[in-house]
Amino acid sequence: MSRIGVLTSGGDAPGMNAAVRAIVRYGIEAELEVYGIYKGYEGLINGLIKEMNRRSVSDILQRGGTILKTARSEEFKTEEGVKKGIDRARIFNLDLIVVIGGNGSFRGAKAISDMGMPVICIPCTIDNDLAYTEQTIGFDTAINTVLEAITRIRDTSSAHERTTVIEVMGRECGDLALYSGLAGGAEVALVPELVADMDYVCMKVMQGVNSGKQHSIIVKAEGYPVSTDDIVKEVAKRTGRSVKPVVLSYLQRGGSPSLRDRLIATECADVAINLIKAGEYNRAVGIINGKVTDISLSKALEAKRTFNEAMYNSIDILSK
Ligand code: ATP
Repeated sequence: MSRIGVLTSGGDAPGMNAAVRAIVRYGIEAELEVYGIYKGYEGLINGLIKEMNRRSVSDILQRGGTILKTARSEEFKTEEGVKKGIDRARIFNLDLIVVIGGNGSFRGAKAISDMGMPVICIPCTIDNDLAYTEQTIGFDTAINTVLEAITRIRDTSSAHERTTVIEVMGRECGDLALYSGLAGGAEVALVPELVADMDYVCMKVMQGVNSGKQHSIIVKAEGYPVSTDDIVKEVAKRTGRSVKPVVLSYLQRGGSPSLRDRLIATECADVAINLIKAGEYNRAVGIINGKVTDISLSKALEAKRTFNEAMYNSIDILSK
């Protein structure tokens, strides 16, 4: 194994650049030639591939986004698309591809490995929706961004004695809502894993109001099956309170990666390059029992998420 490609795919996440930088520099240190594949799988299909050196990744450690760019490719979800991508990789004599991304990107990587091109995957998404790893790169920064937003919104909610419904990202995973709901002192976290009854939501708001609270915060995951607007209307109708929505949207994706995300990204890349040097392919790097390690990509994709019910219950108890 002497020449590897690296790509970032799916939603960008803070720490993607830190991972790319470490793959390039650890890779070169291990006497590998490292090629950047631009725009994820779309770029792989189109041959947007360029050799990288230590200086190609200068001054990116602290930046959000990804210098390799990212994209979503419908074509890559077809067998034909994957084959095209692999053919392109072979034209550039790539022996292996390091895929940095989330759930969907890992499925793309699995499709590549099933067609005979080795891969190594690094978990990087703000959604924290990869079950095999205790945390994904980008989650820590995103959760802190959400927390800061909740803190600010809390001030103005108190001043106006208002209820605010804050919509956060996370796709089908409620972790962004759950963690920020607990750390931000929300009355309720609305998550797709445990769909709350509207009676309960309104009871929580009124419980706070009746015990003298100035504000109430409802953190809602984007994957929750009721729209933010409908929740706002329903809570306002049933409680008679002023209720406002705040959709944090892409604000959560950007920003300089936290210390934790930089460290995990760097360590994951180190493990990835060591795997490549040891001839162990089709592995997913991640945090298991608090340690950065690796498991087979198939097992990583089969892992089932367990919902942290204790955290959910804590929000209920602490907001009384
Ligand atoms: P995030 O959750 O942060 O958005 P992600 O990696 O889950 O990141 P997706 O949009 O789900 O983002 O996937 C990224 C890309 O991976 C897709 O656009 C597609 O090109 C590829 N992909 C997803 N699923 C498959 C699949 N089953 N087979 C081949 N490629 C896939």
